[in-house]
Amino acid sequence: MSIQVFGMAVSRGVAIGRAVLVASSRIDVAHYFVGPDQVAAEIERLRMARNVVAAELSSLQADMPADAPAELSALLDVHLMLLHDDTLSSATKHWIVERHYNAEWALSAQLEVLARQFDEMEDEYLRERKADVEQVVERMLQFLARDAGRAGGGIAQAALAPDFGGEEPLVLVANDVAPADMLQFKRSVFTGFVTDVGGQNSHTAIVARSMDIPAVVGAREASRLIRQDDWIVIDGDAGVVVVNPSQIVLEEYRFRQRQSELERARLHRLRNTPAVTLDGQAIELLANIEMPGDAAAAVESGAVGVGLFRSEFLFMNRADDLPGEDEQFEAYREAVLAMNGLPVTVRTVDIGADKPLERLSSAELRHEHVLNPALGLRAIRWSLSEPGMFRQQLRAILRASAFGKVRILIPMIAHLSEVRLTFEALARARQQLDDAGRAHGRVEIGAMIEVPAAALQIEAFLRHFDFVSIGTNDLIQYALAIDRADEAVAHLYDPWHPAVLHLVAMTIEAANRLGRGVSVCGEMAGDPAFTDLLLAMGLRSFSMHPSRIALIKQRILRADTRRLASALPAVLSADDCSAASARHFGLPSSV
Ligand code: PEP
Ligand code: MG
Repeated sequence: MSIQVFGMAVSRGVAIGRAVLVASSRIDVAHYFVGPDQVAAEIERLRMARNVVAAELSSLQADMPADAPAELSALLDVHLMLLHDDTLSSATKHWIVERHYNAEWALSAQLEVLARQFDEMEDEYLRERKADVEQVVERMLQFLARDAGRAGGGIAQAALAPDFGGEEPLVLVANDVAPADMLQFKRSVFTGFVTDVGGQNSHTAIVARSMDIPAVVGAREASRLIRQDDWIVIDGDAGVVVVNPSQIVLEEYRFRQRQSELERARLHRLRNTPAVTLDGQAIELLANIEMPGDAAAAVESGAVGVGLFRSEFLFMNRADDLPGEDEQFEAYREAVLAMNGLPVTVRTVDIGADKPLERLSSAELRHEHVLNPALGLRAIRWSLSEPGMFRQQLRAILRASAFGKVRILIPMIAHLSEVRLTFEALARARQQLDDAGRAHGRVEIGAMIEVPAAALQIEAFLRHFDFVSIGTNDLIQYALAIDRADEAVAHLYDPWHPAVLHLVAMTIEAANRLGRGVSVCGEMAGDPAFTDLLLAMGLRSFSMHPSRIALIKQRILRADTRRLASALPAVLSADDCSAASARHFGLPSSV
């Protein structure tokens, strides 16, 4: 039966594929494809796992003291029976043979199927047997992880098989996916994803957009309603997931898929066209990147530089092995060289909130121990609390500046005392490089304006920095007191809120008046619904995912900034800025 699940559209386009359900509790299971010639070996690993676990259980039973409760032995009997049951072993083999999943993935896929069946049982006693199946499978997974010599690669290893991807497209369905795991998906074969939780501007959604794959988040019931291997359509434009679509619906979506591919190809032709408005204003279109390897996509998109390199992604999935100065230097230099003379703006780490560091010793940075992570030790606050690491990063960036044009961007700055400490750290980092005889170049220093306090005190900040970049994602979060990652309040996360637009407009106006560079690097910059409004405010530099550049350029080519600027007061003074913007600029109020 075909059903629809509704969530939030976070990354455009249509993906059609088989659902791969990954339960959060199984996120540590390695997921990869095996080639046709490895299928037999993978089945053998599965058989071994079953035999070893059966032997463990039998010996537990044999060694049981005579006075042990009878239920315990009966329980082991149940586990042994489940272990040899056909619905576990032959069905698991099916995933290996038909889908080419590795044994761990096959086993967890089958567990999802069985768990669902148990959940639907009427009889309470039988329903509770789900826990037994989970325990048996857990033991087998533990054996397989030991066997593979790893403790599980996490979603991180999900479907990493560039040369063998199975025959059918796959889409990922999960309760949640952390930004660090998302990063790994950049190398995976998934063509789209759906999560139960998450907000439109969570970092998970942002990485999805940067990958340019259709995605829907906050689809609350998705991972319960969708079954392993169901055919699903992810409509990333409407925020809808269609499960087991009828033939006619499928045809309709395939048509839309083809249309959007054509549209993409058409937009790609704008790649080398300069972004100049009808009245001759040159607009700078920069790229947001997460890893140095993304610089290639930035160049390919026609970006004239990197406006935001989210350096914290270098620190993710690294647990106790954080990148040191040399490794960071290599990463920044790689991006600088790839940009071939175009500027690269490296933002110092924005650790914390929904991007916690995995380092176990920093318990306070892990969500569960922090009262309110978005308001906690995040970004520059974190860097200033770890002065050694901060200077290490600054040295690495400064060294990379000997190879091209580099700018440093400080996130979440809100106090002038933080400005002073930042410049002291910079001076010391430079001194350390000089003392060590290491080359470094001249860098411009900028501040992210993403805390309302900084926007309200913008002139004081502009006196210290060469440029500012407006982080609208956080500016909205903090101005409206809405956690950007929480789908329960996602409907209140409103970029059109007049208070937000006033903060943005004030910042742009002050920077232009004082002759400082100003850019927007939040998601607003890559949303064509805001292009005319931002141009009207006087913005001439936009930074966004490379995949959005052509679309925004298209709008810029059709814009006349003089006409737009004259309508700005009417839009900003309206109660409903979205409707007023549509009225004055002839734009759709949302995209
Ligand atoms: C922002 O807050 O708008 C921004 C660009 O930074 P991030 O999304 O990484 O917090
Ligand atoms: Mg931010």
